[in-house]
Amino acid sequence: MFYIGCHLSASKGFTHMAKEAVSIGANTFQFFTRNPRGFAAKEIDAEDVKTFLQYAQENNFGKILAHAPYTLNPSSADEKVRELALRIMHDDMQRMECVPGNLYNFHPGSHVGQGADKGIELTANLLNTILTPQQTTTVLLETMSGKGSEIGRNFEELKEIMDRTELSEKVGVCLDTCHVYDAGYDIVNDFDGVLDEFDRIIGLEKLCAIHMNDSKNPYESHKDRHEKIGEGYIGLETMRKIINNPRVKNLPFLLETPNELDGYASEIKLLKDSRE
Ligand code: FE
Ligand code: FE
Ligand code: ZN
Repeated sequence: MFYIGCHLSASKGFTHMAKEAVSIGANTFQFFTRNPRGFAAKEIDAEDVKTFLQYAQENNFGKILAHAPYTLNPSSADEKVRELALRIMHDDMQRMECVPGNLYNFHPGSHVGQGADKGIELTANLLNTILTPQQTTTVLLETMSGKGSEIGRNFEELKEIMDRTELSEKVGVCLDTCHVYDAGYDIVNDFDGVLDEFDRIIGLEKLCAIHMNDSKNPYESHKDRHEKIGEGYIGLETMRKIINNPRVKNLPFLLETPNELDGYASEIKLLKDSRE
């Protein structure tokens, strides 16, 4: 099964997102758990959730991916900023259990001058506070481009966070193609080599989702500017190789490209036509 989808607006609820996904040829989707500015979250409607779960099953949906507000910084030097991340993500953990067994992705944070080791420690502390043995949600660390003082700019840092997390079986990784390329992993010339390295350092079984984005900037630029599929430095040929690679082809692929719905529909069609 090819699980392909894109980022959608959550403002009208789960059923609306699922129907929107189907209307553009998708069978999974990503959404923000709340507004990245102001952090307002939509009230969860039990009726909506029930309809969604049924609809997703009927339409053979893959796992869906919730994305934490990217404005949170769990590894900030400021205790207030860290507490906000903790409070929001703790609340998100409870909310995610209304759609059991899905994925929740977040940016590991920026150490803002404290050093990567300190940032890694603070992010692991946050995970050790919010994760519970009962939860069915897998929390994903996103691979980052290394702009500013971002942590998660290489596989070693992600592994370090997981090693310091007690309930590490609840944690996985979401690989963002734009971010890893900008970070200096050459997915264009050697995607399999990058997967080998991921496997050696983290373990491929920890890879749970892929963000499919082309990059507006060249290799190792540490910029993080997403481009439409085939229109950036990564290119369509590499995207084809990725979606057909037997080691990752069954994962959910989520587009976060600069598009409206019709643009997403054509990229999804393009990628579906590129499946071997
Ligand atoms: Fe992200
Ligand atoms: Fe991403
Ligand atoms: Zn990005």
